[in-house]
Amino acid sequence: MALLSVLARTLPRAPRAGARLVRLSSTERAPPKLALYTSALCVEHDAGMGHPESPERLTSLLALARGEWATKFGEELELREPNVDVTDEQLLRVHTERHVSRMRAAFATAGSKQATLSLDADTRVCPSSGAASLRASGLTVAAVDAVLADGARTKRAFVMARPPGHHAEPDTAMGFCLFNSIMVGVAHAQAAHGLRKVALLDFDVHHGNGGQAMCTEHADRFFASSHQSPCYPGSGNRLGTSGVAGQVLNVPLKPGAGSEQFRTAWADTILPAMAAFAPEMVFVSAGFDAHEFDPLASLFLHEDDYEWVTKKIAETAGGAPIVSYLEGGYEIGALGRSVRAHVKGMIEA
Ligand SMILES: [Zn+2]
Repeated sequence: MALLSVLARTLPRAPRAGARLVRLSSTERAPPKLALYTSALCVEHDAGMGHPESPERLTSLLALARGEWATKFGEELELREPNVDVTDEQLLRVHTERHVSRMRAAFATAGSKQATLSLDADTRVCPSSGAASLRASGLTVAAVDAVLADGARTKRAFVMARPPGHHAEPDTAMGFCLFNSIMVGVAHAQAAHGLRKVALLDFDVHHGNGGQAMCTEHADRFFASSHQSPCYPGSGNRLGTSGVAGQVLNVPLKPGAGSEQFRTAWADTILPAMAAFAPEMVFVSAGFDAHEFDPLASLFLHEDDYEWVTKKIAETAGGAPIVSYLEGGYEIGALGRSVRAHVKGMIEA
């Protein structure tokens, strides 16, 4: 009897008289809420044994995307693996000719010698780094094109690629980053799609010095970062605004800070400032190394903080398209749970 009453409660009810049934034929399925751009090429970039920015970061995420996330999110999440590489024209919107030619020379040298080159103490180029980084930035451009296409019904994309990019400055590779992929996307949205005002938000535990450098002279690019201070790369230590129009905002967090300080920074400072700027599109440098288990820094976020901040960003963006890019996150288990929380937030918000 008890079981039957449970069944009765869970069985679908017949539609009420007058209720309108909307049926989707197989050719007009609901669009995915989130497009996830990735490539096996991005696994191949390898900075060497013991380097925290490891191929395993992406192999573990790809296994989750094809397994547990596919089961959980179904058709709301669509994996896309287009064979698209960034062009020099697209890179040169944010990088100098000198940087692009130096990187292409480094890729060629690493390839011909089958060797790994050190660009600085922790940034390296291996024989597969050229293919990986040109694809990573190319995927970001493809994601921007997709969410801005005429009639696009999927307005959110996450680029799950490597190497990360947010430390790469106009003329410099640094901090594991070769090209600043998310900024290549920002500049593409403005140059190729005619968007005027865009925002880049960065919740990686490290200051997004590259994004800031590429936004600071552009009044139409809002940039905001929360990050640990003091910490690598040593910039963004002062709370407040800078940039040509006061459109660059840094909110440093002290080592040991956790969910409360992080959520206060975003709810009280960063998101109201972005709302006032009213961007037509929102970009996110999505790094997950502020997690309490991450070995590279000393903030104490939990994975549910990433779902929270993602949903808040999406709510503040209104209907504006969102493209996010995987930056840091170095504890493999915590990274998987945190990226899942970001994906969930992008789908549900
Ligand atoms: Zn980081």
